[in-house]
Amino acid sequence: MTKKYFNFINGSWKEALNGNTIESRNPAAPLEAVGNFQSSSKEDLSEAIIAADQSFEAWSSLSYIERGSYLYRAAEEMEKMVEEIAETATKEMGKTFIETKGEVKRSIAILKYYAGEGMQQIGEVIPSADSETMLYTKRVPLGAVGIIAPWNFPIAIPIWKIAPALIYGNTVVFKPASESAITGLKIVEVFEKAGLPAGVLNAVTGKGSIIGEGLVENDHIKGISFTGSNPTGKRIAIGAVERGIKYQLEMGGKNPSVILEDADLDQASKMTVDAAMKHTGQKCTATSRVYIQESIYEKTKEKIIKHIEAIKVGNGMDEDTYMGPVATKSQYDSVLAYIEKGKKEGAKLIYEGKSLTNELREEGFYIEPTVFEDGKEGMAIVEEEIFGPVIVLMKTSGLQDAITKANSSRFGLSAAVFTNNIKNSVIFSDKVDAGMIKVNGETTGSEPHVPFGGMKDSSSHSREQGKAAKEFFTSIKTISTTI
Ligand code: NDP
Repeated sequence: MTKKYFNFINGSWKEALNGNTIESRNPAAPLEAVGNFQSSSKEDLSEAIIAADQSFEAWSSLSYIERGSYLYRAAEEMEKMVEEIAETATKEMGKTFIETKGEVKRSIAILKYYAGEGMQQIGEVIPSADSETMLYTKRVPLGAVGIIAPWNFPIAIPIWKIAPALIYGNTVVFKPASESAITGLKIVEVFEKAGLPAGVLNAVTGKGSIIGEGLVENDHIKGISFTGSNPTGKRIAIGAVERGIKYQLEMGGKNPSVILEDADLDQASKMTVDAAMKHTGQKCTATSRVYIQESIYEKTKEKIIKHIEAIKVGNGMDEDTYMGPVATKSQYDSVLAYIEKGKKEGAKLIYEGKSLTNELREEGFYIEPTVFEDGKEGMAIVEEEIFGPVIVLMKTSGLQDAITKANSSRFGLSAAVFTNNIKNSVIFSDKVDAGMIKVNGETTGSEPHVPFGGMKDSSSHSREQGKAAKEFFTSIKTISTTI
């Protein structure tokens, strides 16, 4: 029988009041059920929000060291569950077991980082105009916060939101994406095992239109941290502004890689392909536009295609798989539709990403890597986030032209330049519109202790991770004490 998974509310695992569940299926074998999770209603959500609200006073009154000790214990518990969490994630959303194991390990590092980060300063002493007055700032938690997570990093993204929320004294209601809900609940299990007090972290699964919206609307929720698509993010922003609460959005990208003639072409071509195709291209930081200097275009293209040809598509649980299936049927349909659009709009298909899936889709939502060239501004494959294994190669006359083209996108999450000329790298880093910039590196990848986020339509201009998380999950008080 398919295993049932429950909401975690006020320290207990609970069935949704309406008794409804949703079946999670494996995108590598869509007839295989991974488990059933609760299709909750606003009543379940309300119970979770009340628990978070009521536990806020006690949790925020603990010292940073006490709160940090729970995060250290959660990291220890997660270490015991690396394989279990990773396997669940691979089975729910398809990316390879190597990648999901890496994601759990990264999440452990994030937990440890925030456990220690709690010991850092939470304010500043500033000289007052009055010598009898001590003037200082102090950061305080927001209260009960809502965390709405996506499926593409079903472990690391929830953790990089939950860990700072907790360490700075907030309590949490977490809504995992439906495509990775069971993985989300496994994360919560880690905190339960760490002995986190009841009500401090709650998880409610169910439809985004019910549970996600319900979080934004509820008066007890004092902040929303969201990662996902632009339309949903913008909707959340409107709701949050109406209620006058803090919100943080990390959304899409259309990330450029620029390869200049002085680059190490072997390194550039390998990293560009990895940045585009790992996780089956389903990263907000994945490379999707590649600008190659004309003088080295043909030989770089050849090298890129060689790497593409070597990619093995298959079940993420198989050791030699480089690229698993896309996460869902709707992703599958959407990526194939973009490939068709690219052909119709006149881009040249130089490596055809065929569907490897039979009519009944029993074999999984597999799509081969796809490479276009001669992309032009205005084409959907050059402008829109595809979130799949598709790249477009385009020629550039040099650095300035590449920067102009890179900046032509409405997105501004990450960008890479491959060059051995330090001047080019500095100019690119200064002028490109992106929150994350790599010189001789993949557009993807971030470290837990530095700010993560984008410019333009990629973000609400706030940043996550590192010390930047403190800015979102706290509010500043300015205190003036006169003796
Ligand atoms: P969504 O933005 O719809 O989902 C992200 C999260 O928001 C999920 O937890 C979802 O819940 C929730 N949600 C959905 N509707 C609402 C709502 N009205 N109010 C509040 N929360 C809501 O993204 P999708 O999963 O549908 O992916 C679609 C596209 O978004 C992808 O193809 C990709 O282009 C982009 N995307 C970008 C990501 C990134 O990291 N930047 C991550 C994921 C997607 P539920 O799952 O239950 O619907």
